[in-house]
Amino acid sequence: MTRISLNGKTDLLSLNRDELKSFMVELGEPAYRAEQIFTQFHRGIFPDEMTNIPKKLKETLLQCACYPLPTVEKKLTSALDGTVKYLMGLYDGNCVESVVMKYNHGNTICISSQVGCRMGCRFCASTIGGRVRDLLPSELLGQIIVAERDTGERIGGVVMMGIGEPLDNFDNVIKFLELVGDEKGLNIGYRHISLSTCGLVPRIRELAELNFPITLSISLHAPDDETRSKIMPVNNSYGVDELLSACKAYFAKTNRRISFEYTLIAGENDSPENAQKLAKVLNSALRSRTETMPIHVNLIPVNPVKETGFESSGKASVQKFAAVLEKHGIRATVRRKLGSDINASCGQLRRESAKEKNENN
Ligand code: SAH
Repeated sequence: MTRISLNGKTDLLSLNRDELKSFMVELGEPAYRAEQIFTQFHRGIFPDEMTNIPKKLKETLLQCACYPLPTVEKKLTSALDGTVKYLMGLYDGNCVESVVMKYNHGNTICISSQVGCRMGCRFCASTIGGRVRDLLPSELLGQIIVAERDTGERIGGVVMMGIGEPLDNFDNVIKFLELVGDEKGLNIGYRHISLSTCGLVPRIRELAELNFPITLSISLHAPDDETRSKIMPVNNSYGVDELLSACKAYFAKTNRRISFEYTLIAGENDSPENAQKLAKVLNSALRSRTETMPIHVNLIPVNPVKETGFESSGKASVQKFAAVLEKHGIRATVRRKLGSDINASCGQLRRESAKEKNENN
């Protein structure tokens, strides 16, 4: 990967250990400096604060290198369950959101992958203003470093379910996966990382080839092309059959279970007939008499977004939907909603902040 330069300075946080080594060697430093620096970078300690590198190197780095770590612009903490939502400011004034969720087994962070999104899903707040730009590997990683520093607690899991479509920022996301799993860095186990996609089929196939043992989440949200295309324009490029056949190939290659996200929208995709169709299409596309691919569907009552006009399905329809899936041998869980008092679902805080900025200008 070519080095990323911001205002004429190399982004060192986007480099892996080997790349950092080459950089140090070019500066006339011993290669072991890279190891010292790498570990500290990933804990949020930058040359200014490092005690084990020479003063001259600190000065050189200040001149030729940068560390575009996000800054906390806003922080909301849920009084109900301790969920922390951050509005993170980026080096160019853009903002994204990250959410730290506290579970009994540890902390998981939901990170953003792009500023905005161009996928156009009709129920989603993140896509309303389109895509502004991709996040750099350093900015993907930086959300975790900043949240760890701010909470003072280790983050052991990552879900890429924030603002943006991770597979539409493929190269940077792959670089991020390399960095986040480095044992000298954050060292987060791939089994504790999930990547969620609206279904960019060629990229799913490419990801399978790279064989990271992460969990893939597919935002399916509908059982057939007609229903899906109405709410997800991406379905016009890659239909349900094509998507599920990529999922099958992904599982065959990685042996990692795939989970399906299904956002329930009243009157759009939440009828018992929809559930029946969903069970049928999943079973026939992914299972055969000899194969038993585990299938898990995560049901999420839609989070109403003012601009979309969609309403959430009632509790009874959600339960009914889940029951139909279970009857057909498909595990279904209803997503527990964390941070409901701080509007923890992604996309809305960034939009509010952009509106405030516009009103103040
Ligand atoms: N672009 C990726 C990841 C970001 S969205 C993807 O599409 O998977 C993360 C999840 O939240 C997706 O399943 C998305 O469909 C869902 N989502 C978006 N807006 C929502 C809303 N208003 N209510 C419920 N779920 C929503």
